[in-house]
Amino acid sequence: MPGSNVNLQRSGSPRLPSVPRKKETQREKTVRAAAIATCLARSYPEVQCPLRHENTFQLLVAVILSAQCTDAAVNKATPALFRQFPDAASLSRASTAEIEPVIRSLGLYRAKAKSLQSCARQLVERFNGEVPATMAELTGLAGVGRKTANVILGHAFGKPGIVVDTHCRRLSRRLGLTRQQDPTKIEQNLNRLLPSSEWTGFSHRLIIHGRQVCLARRPACENCALRELCPSNTLRNGRKLTW
Ligand code: SF4
Repeated sequence: MPGSNVNLQRSGSPRLPSVPRKKETQREKTVRAAAIATCLARSYPEVQCPLRHENTFQLLVAVILSAQCTDAAVNKATPALFRQFPDAASLSRASTAEIEPVIRSLGLYRAKAKSLQSCARQLVERFNGEVPATMAELTGLAGVGRKTANVILGHAFGKPGIVVDTHCRRLSRRLGLTRQQDPTKIEQNLNRLLPSSEWTGFSHRLIIHGRQVCLARRPACENCALRELCPSNTLRNGRKLTW
């Protein structure tokens, strides 16, 4: 792994730095974060955006719709939405009353319809209908926070960014990579621990791991490839995790 400090044994498996009993130095945490990134990359070599889209505008719309919704639910709703409003110009001309029925199956659909309409109008007025490629411009759009902006920057423009959603937040705290609660501070902590080339892939793999293994109520530590690197490993400390 480029930029990794993890030594590889002859078998090819990583020599895992142990989870320190006493307070971890920043250096030790950086080495452990690199080992976690290596394990995650082995477990989930392919990282693809689960939201179906054919262009950056559609990706932006899908990510806005995904707030407090499953990706599967968004993927069910977006084909009809994109057929009716294929670009920012057509969506900007729509009334919320026209948008709402198409996304009614999703939670918070009224607020989301308003965000989509405002965002599309801003894209037309400020960016000639195109999706901008900087954090500052993206977060100036309606319905777009740092999490959404980092998804767009990473997947559409190849610009690295840590996407801190509920899974990334929970796992980075369980893994002892941050003690912060605030997503922006968690993002800053993870940015310091990992090289920028890892940011997008690491956070997306953490999200997959949070959905498949390190579940919120019942983390499957017995099946977890990260357990030797994780201070919250329930097999080691017998503690019940309740995040
Ligand atoms: S060892 Fe358990 S708590 Fe730690 S990351 Fe794995 S599943 Fe989550």
